[in-house]
Amino acid sequence: MTVTQTSPQNPLPLLLLGKGADPASERGVECPGDLPAASDPDLVDRARRARDALGDRAFLLGHHYQRDEVIQFADVTGDSFKLARDAAARPDAEYIIFCGVHFMAESADILTGDHQQVVLPDLAAGCSMADMAKLVQVEDAWARLAEAGVTSTTVPITYMNSSADIKSFVGRNGGAVCTSSNAQRALEWAFEQGEKVLFLPDQHLGRNTAVLQMGMSLDDCVLIDPHKPDFGVTDEQLRAARMLLWRGHCSVHGRFTADSVADVRDRVPGVNVLVHPECKHEVVTRADYIGSTEYIIKTIADAPSGTAWAVGTELNLVKRLAERHPDKNVVFLDRNVCFCSTMNRIDLPHLVWAMESLAEGRVVNRIEVDDDTAHWARVALDRMLALPAISAGSKS
Ligand code: SF4
Repeated sequence: MTVTQTSPQNPLPLLLLGKGADPASERGVECPGDLPAASDPDLVDRARRARDALGDRAFLLGHHYQRDEVIQFADVTGDSFKLARDAAARPDAEYIIFCGVHFMAESADILTGDHQQVVLPDLAAGCSMADMAKLVQVEDAWARLAEAGVTSTTVPITYMNSSADIKSFVGRNGGAVCTSSNAQRALEWAFEQGEKVLFLPDQHLGRNTAVLQMGMSLDDCVLIDPHKPDFGVTDEQLRAARMLLWRGHCSVHGRFTADSVADVRDRVPGVNVLVHPECKHEVVTRADYIGSTEYIIKTIADAPSGTAWAVGTELNLVKRLAERHPDKNVVFLDRNVCFCSTMNRIDLPHLVWAMESLAEGRVVNRIEVDDDTAHWARVALDRMLALPAISAGSKS
């Protein structure tokens, strides 16, 4: 039997930039206010004045992939999980200004108090990976798994880079959230609870962790494709597999290829290749070091002077690492530029607009997760927080 797919029964129309808005999802796109011009020479001073006016009432979080013009105003920087925890550690801050993407602001709202309001300066800052797993699709896939008789032995695990309603689905169905730092420990926990894992939404993090860190083979993995009839798998494949990988990926890390690695080894003699586990399997298996954003930052910081590093992650971060460590040769893994376009939506005009609005008492672009969704997402996050710590990266 064919389980209902997302189209045409459950359409998920694309929202083109500047055309309509859906503030409850990663697809929200419109700025509801008057943005200052990017050419305004007073922009940095306006940002400083608004930041000073807000004082301790606001706490400004900056993801590592944000632009320099924004990150200079961040009170703390970090990856998505660190930032959500940083926000939770500041219960005195009335406003959490999240310079990152939509799912991160949702996590901050889930982990902060009811008296705190989370603001995302540009609602167009979504995440294409999170968008690749919609709740309606995942619920249909779960029904597909039920049809094959495997839901009772399957534990859903979702990467932090997913929407709040996917985290909530996972919490309701006995699963947990993971980050790129603790994916191995989350999988170990999941395999203590069941025989299979449905891994959402990043197939590459799921595959790389299962094969390189858990000792599984590629044949233990099957792809759950929401755009194919029956999700592209037979009942027999679902029963035989251990890792059921959702067909999602990061459009930034997905650009690196085996050729990128071969090319940089030719260009930069003695280079160490350091990549994020969101990269394809063909890339991580050719790299020297693999690890989360925090691991990448620490590895470069700890490296001896004079060493050469090709880094496979978002370009804003790689540029900053190169500037911060002039005694080392830090280059981008690919010849082509590779910014995260949605992260880059947060620019200085949007930040100024958001801070000036807050300083005038107007809360704009608030990200709020409903109570039921937040409850179950919190359950999935708390299961992750209960996992013992594990190292954030590895030498291949
Ligand atoms: S870098 Fe990739 S995973 Fe991160 S926000 Fe951008 S598209 Fe999403």
